[in-house]
Amino acid sequence: MNSIITKINFKNEPVLNYNLGSPERDELTSEIYNMKNSFVDIPLIVGGKEIRTEKKGKCILPHDKNKVIGEYHIASKKEVSMAIEEALKAKQEWEEMPWQSRVAIFLRAADLAAGPWRAKLNAATMLTQSKTYKQAEIDSACELVDFLRYNAHCLQQIYSQQPISSAKVWNRTVYRPLEGFVFAVSPFNFTAIASNLSGAPAIAGNTIVWKPASNTVYSAYVIYQLYKEAGLPDGVINFIPGKANEISNTVLSHSDLSGIHFTGSTEVFQNLWASVGENICNYKTFPRLVGETGGKNFVVAHNSANINSLCRGLIEGAFEYQGQKCSAASRAYIAKSIWPTVKEKLLEKASKLRVGDIEDFENFMGAVIDQSSFDNIISYIEYVKNSEDAEILHGGNYDDTVGYFVEPTIILTSNHNFKTMKEEIFGPVLTIYIYQDEDYLEILNLVDKNSEYGLTGSIYARDRYAIVQAEKALMHTAGNFYINDRPTGAVVGQQPFGGSRLSGTNDKAGSVINLMRWISPRVIKETLSN
Ligand code: NAD
Repeated sequence: MNSIITKINFKNEPVLNYNLGSPERDELTSEIYNMKNSFVDIPLIVGGKEIRTEKKGKCILPHDKNKVIGEYHIASKKEVSMAIEEALKAKQEWEEMPWQSRVAIFLRAADLAAGPWRAKLNAATMLTQSKTYKQAEIDSACELVDFLRYNAHCLQQIYSQQPISSAKVWNRTVYRPLEGFVFAVSPFNFTAIASNLSGAPAIAGNTIVWKPASNTVYSAYVIYQLYKEAGLPDGVINFIPGKANEISNTVLSHSDLSGIHFTGSTEVFQNLWASVGENICNYKTFPRLVGETGGKNFVVAHNSANINSLCRGLIEGAFEYQGQKCSAASRAYIAKSIWPTVKEKLLEKASKLRVGDIEDFENFMGAVIDQSSFDNIISYIEYVKNSEDAEILHGGNYDDTVGYFVEPTIILTSNHNFKTMKEEIFGPVLTIYIYQDEDYLEILNLVDKNSEYGLTGSIYARDRYAIVQAEKALMHTAGNFYINDRPTGAVVGQQPFGGSRLSGTNDKAGSVINLMRWISPRVIKETLSN
């Protein structure tokens, strides 16, 4: 109140290294031990009250599938309706709270997550998402903290944008939240995204009904508790794990739906959009639809590429977190003249990748998320094994006896239209196509036309003309475009993330662009001379 804040500073949260004997390593390993040796009963949280239902789901470890570390209660239609009512009830007080106080809650959540809650967030992410300590640290610690702090920074920038006034007239813009409630639906693969899908609309003054992904309810519950500890009032975010269809049927037909904040697969977002279309005459407002969805991300290597950085980019881009990043490299186009050297280095690097339990800090990869994902990935691998225009250069083995393990798999195809060059697999599978050096421009055209997605992609070249040509030809092929770097690892505030085409609405998570979607400006003109 009664203050004009000119700048909320932002700096990215530093990544800790977890060296043997470091305090962060000790804290993380003891948190993992505690989580594995306890059992959590996760309720729904509606209007701040814990609700337990008859139906329950299990929280398992993908790399040790028989180990259950918790159970979560599943919302039925009744609890979903209650969550909507509670979100609407909490709305007025929350939107009228001075924005500095709203922001302070999320800045406090950031400080807690960077400090005393860091190990808990990382341990939950490692165990239930099967992330290595490195992948957890950049997700559930750094990116999560960055989203919270950067949203505060961006909101302040938005609020300070004011119209000009003329003689005897004073104009102002008030950045209202949307009327109604926002439906947040989060994917399994990033704890930071789950936190941001509910947190971004909330910091702008909206109240939320949040459905987390079923296989990551555990880490979503840790986020909810973090928000609560930071002082988030009851009813602002209502936490309702459950069956997706049942929840969305109730939510999407409600007249007060003001927006959907979604990250997940293209098909699910298309279905949500279609349901909104069917219900459009029943709503009090036009719901804002924000969805970041799938990708078929490319790497193009010109014959002038630096081969070491190319190979490193391919390995990290395709296989970190088992290829389950929306930005993961999954199709590569390599100039023929450099292929023999690339092949040798790539296979050498791939042979050193260790796959296994994420509690072993030497492992590079854990397990894929669940049985259906495992089955889907191996169906592609089997397809390749039975195909004439592709061969497996590395990997191709899998085993789900203990957990859902799939080897990092490199495929070489002679057909640029091959199935694994076009479809999102969402697993550790990279397909390579070799092109004649002189066909570089044609290949750029093909990279652009060959995918219905538009999320991320990289060009590796030292020849500046080749870089300029790629930048131009691939103008609409990627919302995040990388030059001589892997197509993954976007950092909040540095490379705002999102893509167009079937990759989503490209509202750039963690940016002014995203926050603007949760705001409905009101302009006030006051004539001073009357
Ligand atoms: P998913 O689409 O299966 O699930 C996402 C969420 O939608 C989950 O909470 C799920 O329960 C829910 N859902 C499913 N059907 C629904 C329905 N009918 N109504 C309402 N909710 C429904 O995706 P996933 O497997 O969790 O995540 C992987 C996908 O997410 C990949 O396609 C990946 O590319 C994409 N992704 C994109 C980004 C990005 O920023 N573009 C980031 C992360 C993940």
